[in-house]
Amino acid sequence: MSQRILLLPGDGIGPEVIREAEKILVQVISRFKLDLQLETALLGGAAIDSEGIPLPDSTLKLANQADAILLGAVGGPKWDEIDRSIRPEKGLLGLRSGLQLFGNLRPAITFPQLADASSLKKELVAGLDLLIVRELTGGIYFGEPRGIRELKNGEKQGFNTYVYSESEIERIGRVAFDAARKRDGRLCSVDKANVLEVTVLWREVMDRLGREYKDVQLSHMYVDNAAMQLIREPKQFDVMVTGNMFGDILSDAAAMLTGSIGMLPSASLDINGKGMYEPCHGSAPDIAGQNKANPLAAILSCAMMMRYSLGLEQVALTIEKAVEQTLDEGYRTVDIFSDGYKKVSTSEMGDAVSSILSSI
Ligand code: NAD
Repeated sequence: MSQRILLLPGDGIGPEVIREAEKILVQVISRFKLDLQLETALLGGAAIDSEGIPLPDSTLKLANQADAILLGAVGGPKWDEIDRSIRPEKGLLGLRSGLQLFGNLRPAITFPQLADASSLKKELVAGLDLLIVRELTGGIYFGEPRGIRELKNGEKQGFNTYVYSESEIERIGRVAFDAARKRDGRLCSVDKANVLEVTVLWREVMDRLGREYKDVQLSHMYVDNAAMQLIREPKQFDVMVTGNMFGDILSDAAAMLTGSIGMLPSASLDINGKGMYEPCHGSAPDIAGQNKANPLAAILSCAMMMRYSLGLEQVALTIEKAVEQTLDEGYRTVDIFSDGYKKVSTSEMGDAVSSILSSI
C-alpha cells in the first residue's frame, strides 16, 4: 500500500520553500520508484483566511492518516492582532500535541562551503555534523502545578514543576540511541544530575538503555558544561539527548554555530517514528513573496523524512549529496551569499538541486 506524505506549506515563505521541496520529492519518487503519495492541506494563517481556524478538522484528519508530514512555516503580521486562541501558531502546537510528537531532532550541520558564515572560527565549525534530540512534550514546560501565587506576606511567587516519568525518559532515550546507531554511534546525555533529582532519574534511565544499546557509546554531561563545550569544541559531539528546556536552549545555540537558519531542517517524531518535518526558520515576512528565501532547509527536511520516517537511507543520502554539490558549484541564495558566488532565487536554487540530483 502506498505511503502518504502530507504537505503543509503554511504562510509567508512557507509555500515558496515547500514548492521547491516538492520538486525534489516528485523527482526522488520517480527516480527510486517510491510508492509515495503527496497531498496538501491548509495550516496556520492560510487556514484562518479560508476556514476561520488555524488547524481545520480536515487538515488534522489528513495529518493523522499521513505517514509523514512536511511543513513550511506558519504565522506573520497579518494574523498578529487576532484572538490568541486562534493564532496561526496554535495550529502548529495543536498538530504537535494532537499527533504526540515528543521527539524533536535538530541537526546542526555546517557545510564546509558555508563555514565562513558562522560566528565561530572556521576550523571549529567546518564539517560540524551534530544532532540534538530534545524531548518536546514534557518536562518543566508542561509540569503541574504551575502558576503565580500570592504569599501570606503579599509577595508574589512564580513556580513551575520539572517532572519526567521513567517512560517519558525511556521513549526519548530510544529515539536518541536509535539515531546514534544510524550515525557515528556516540550519544551524550545532558542533565543537571548534581542538582536536580528529576535528572538523576534521567541519568539512571539513560544508563539502563545504554546497557541495551551496547553498540552506542554513551556519555553524560552537565548542561552548563555542555553549553560551554558546544561553543569550545562543537565537533566533539555526535548526538546529544536532553529534556525540553535544556534542549530548547542548546539547540538554538547549536543552530547559530552553523551560520544560517535557512539551512537547518528538523523533525518531530511520535512513538512509531511517524514524523513532522520542517525547516527551523519561520515564515520570514520580510522576504515573503519575493522569491528570495533559501529552500535548502525545506529540502534537507525531505532527506530527514526519508531517513527517520520512511526508512529510505539511500534516498536521504542522495538528497543531501545533491545539496552539498549545489553549494560546491557556488549557488547561493541571498542569506548565504558572499562575493564570488552565484546569487540565485528560491526557485533557481530548487532547480539547481534538482538538476544536480538528476546527475548523481
Ligand atoms: P524567521 O525565521 O521567520 O526570520 C528571521 C530572519 O531570518 C528574517 O530576517 C528572515 O528573512 C530570515 N530567514 C528565515 N528563513 C529564511 C530563509 N529560508 N531564507 C532566507 N532568510 C531566511 O523568524 P521571525 O522573524 O522571528 O518570525 C516570523 C514569523 O514566523 C512570526 O510570525 C513567527 O511566529 C513565525 N515563526 C514560525 C515558525 C514555524 O512555523 N515553525 C518558527 C519560527 C517563527
